[in-house]
Amino acid sequence: MPASTNTSQRKLVLATSNPGKISEMRSILADLDVAVLAGTDVPDWPSVEEDQPDLRGNALKKAREWHRATAIMALADDTALEVPYLGGAPGVRSARYAGEDGDSDANITKLLFELRNATESDRSARFRCVIAIVSADGEWCFEGICPGTIAAARAGEGGFGYDPVFVPDGFTESFAQIPTAAKNKISHRGIAVRAAADFLRGHLR
Ligand code: IMP
Repeated sequence: MPASTNTSQRKLVLATSNPGKISEMRSILADLDVAVLAGTDVPDWPSVEEDQPDLRGNALKKAREWHRATAIMALADDTALEVPYLGGAPGVRSARYAGEDGDSDANITKLLFELRNATESDRSARFRCVIAIVSADGEWCFEGICPGTIAAARAGEGGFGYDPVFVPDGFTESFAQIPTAAKNKISHRGIAVRAAADFLRGHLR
């Protein structure tokens, strides 16, 4: 039996317990001929330390460990906010920018402090997301980039992470003020997951 018709290849597990990411990814993957399991649906899911030097390394590490633990094709993501004026920081350490506890509000406070003397053009930034898929037949990576600017102050109540201070190019509002469906159309993760979905559409045939 070819690997792609094996029962375990017809399932895809999302290597995350973040409910926002799960619903966002599920809606993008909805038309695929594959059962999409949330990380939280899988017993004994592995906790993976994101200790690699880049996004690709972390996404692949997570997808490999989830595939090994579940024997199901695994999809993992890793995201960074990159500010060239800050040498690419927060970068691969975006979640832990202000400390190991991953406090988003503290991360934003530190980012605004580091940019306190920055000009408008120095405030250019981008979100970059790498998605890794690991299955019995191989490993694949997909990237999505969303360019924008870091605002001088927080705005909006929606979203998560750095959303209140990230204004995507072409908008005057922050990601935290933009409805989720509109954010998903232009976001780094939306772009990367759609690229992964396009690949899976061909690969699963
Ligand atoms: P992770 O790779 O999803 O763990 O994200 C790394 C860091 O980037 C965390 O601090 C997240 O809160 C933040 N982050 C990831 N995606 C987004 C987003 O779409 N908006 C705002 N912050 C994000």
